[in-house]
Amino acid sequence: MEIKVNQAAEKGKRPEDSALGFGQVFTDHMFVMDYSEQKGWHDPRIEPFSDFSLSPAAMVFHYGQAIFEGLKAYKTSDNKIQLFRARDNYKRLNRSARGMCIPEVDIDLAMDAMKQLIKIEKDWIPETVGTSLYVRPCIIATDPFLGVRASLTYRFFIILSSVGAYYAEGLNPVKIWVSKDHVRAAKGGVGEFKTAGNYAASLIASEKANKEGYAQVLWLDGIERKYIEEVGAMNIFFIIKDEVVTPDLSGSILPGITRKSVLALARKWGMKVVERKISVDELFQAHEEGSLLECFGSGTAAVISPVGEIRYGEKVIQIGDGNPGATSMKFYDALTGIQYGNKEDTEGWIEVID
Ligand SMILES: *Cc1c(COP(=O)(O)O)cnc(C)c1O
Repeated sequence: MEIKVNQAAEKGKRPEDSALGFGQVFTDHMFVMDYSEQKGWHDPRIEPFSDFSLSPAAMVFHYGQAIFEGLKAYKTSDNKIQLFRARDNYKRLNRSARGMCIPEVDIDLAMDAMKQLIKIEKDWIPETVGTSLYVRPCIIATDPFLGVRASLTYRFFIILSSVGAYYAEGLNPVKIWVSKDHVRAAKGGVGEFKTAGNYAASLIASEKANKEGYAQVLWLDGIERKYIEEVGAMNIFFIIKDEVVTPDLSGSILPGITRKSVLALARKWGMKVVERKISVDELFQAHEEGSLLECFGSGTAAVISPVGEIRYGEKVIQIGDGNPGATSMKFYDALTGIQYGNKEDTEGWIEVID
């Protein structure tokens, strides 16, 4: 399918790198394609970034059939544009699509559309260390219908946002708060899909954590409220003695691409790696015994987010000495080194756009 390109008449200006936050600055163009039963996915086009016109009855507004992805394009010091494991994002988008009764997209077409769009918007990619162009593919249900069933029409779009360095002031360990009252997802539900409703469902616990002075919520499993699942919208890792421990993908955990990359590097480096259930009691016990050495979250936005304090009810534990742990930093340096082209891509994770 040919992708039509309609250039914007006016071009915006990218703010200074130091003024960039997250997800506020959008580029001049977007990619859009529509789906109907008769035509399948059709009319792929790059057009000026603009508002959509949708019926107030569009199903996405009522029943939440919406899925998305998040990845980044990085500018290297020799001015190349790099993507990190981008195909995996579209494979996961299709996995989310199957889970939410949304028609899958052609991965080659989606990759091609994204790369063309990024090329057109290359001046929007900031250059300072840690900055990037955030890519947000999304699919929404557009049928104007109030009956409950899967929509018959959809829109797929990709928007781009110039984003600042996540760690403008260095990797300060964050404080996280175990939610006792709320759960993010339950096995058999949609927790393993990147769907909008999971985020809506997470907000109340997040607000409570923030009010208590904690940056993120540590989620426990939805059934026994015992086993650790994720932190905020990141996967979670613990260094216990000489082992790298992360919850196994039990059905309610989002299969993070950063998670998968941390696991691959750890195995490659000969570390002991275990994906298994880990209860919050075991974690606090390990801390008591002095064997909980490090904890960090993993996700595209932060890459690695060291955790320095965990609160569970009235119990509070400190991890480390206020600085990010050595192993956390080792993963951070290796991943960002590959993403920004400062380290050799030994795993074949990088795709250069040219
Ligand atoms: C996107 C996401 C992650 C992290 O996935 P990455 O592919 O590493 O960015 C983790 N948990 C949740 C709930 C997410 O939505």
